[in-house]
Amino acid sequence: MKKERTIIIRDPKLQKIRNGLRTILNLWKSDIKSSLRAKSSEFSEEGNFIKSREIQKKISELNLQYQLSICVCLHCGHSDKDMIFVPEMRQWLCVDCNSERVYFNNLRSNLKISNWQLGEFFERLMGEEGIGLTRSGAKCNGYAASERILNEMGVSKEKQEQFYELCEYYGGYCDCEIIFNAKPRFLEEDFNY
Ligand SMILES: [Zn+2]
Ligand SMILES: [Zn+2]
Repeated sequence: MKKERTIIIRDPKLQKIRNGLRTILNLWKSDIKSSLRAKSSEFSEEGNFIKSREIQKKISELNLQYQLSICVCLHCGHSDKDMIFVPEMRQWLCVDCNSERVYFNNLRSNLKISNWQLGEFFERLMGEEGIGLTRSGAKCNGYAASERILNEMGVSKEKQEQFYELCEYYGGYCDCEIIFNAKPRFLEEDFNY
């Protein structure tokens, strides 16, 4: 599927039927999984590890197929919502998670901190004046180092607020998480735009 596609069911009765079908499919998947698991351990008990691994692979494939299906939102895990197919992610999301995604994509596109500035910021945050990231660890105290560096760089409070909002969405709830979780996301988005 290449195009965005939204499937919305408004009638509560039909919603119930849809959710019921999704539940049945999930139960059916779990059933197949447990019988595959049993088979796999039988094989490994017999010492047939090749067969056992083959079956393990089938189980992972089954999990993946389910996760990518319209039955479940890969982001929040709910299986009782209207769904939308997002072509650039090649997967289904629930309409709520998708609205969130669109909101943060817009926030990212309109963020008035240049990529060049972001690069400088990440460098400084990783270094001695920031969290001092080394093999032995890092020092971290909320957004303290980020705030100090962004202030020094002359980034306004308003822009900083938007920046932290995005950081949280990317899993960066403190200075070190900004480096570990948010930085790759900022750079990856940078790649797409
Ligand atoms: Zn969702
Ligand atoms: Zn931290």
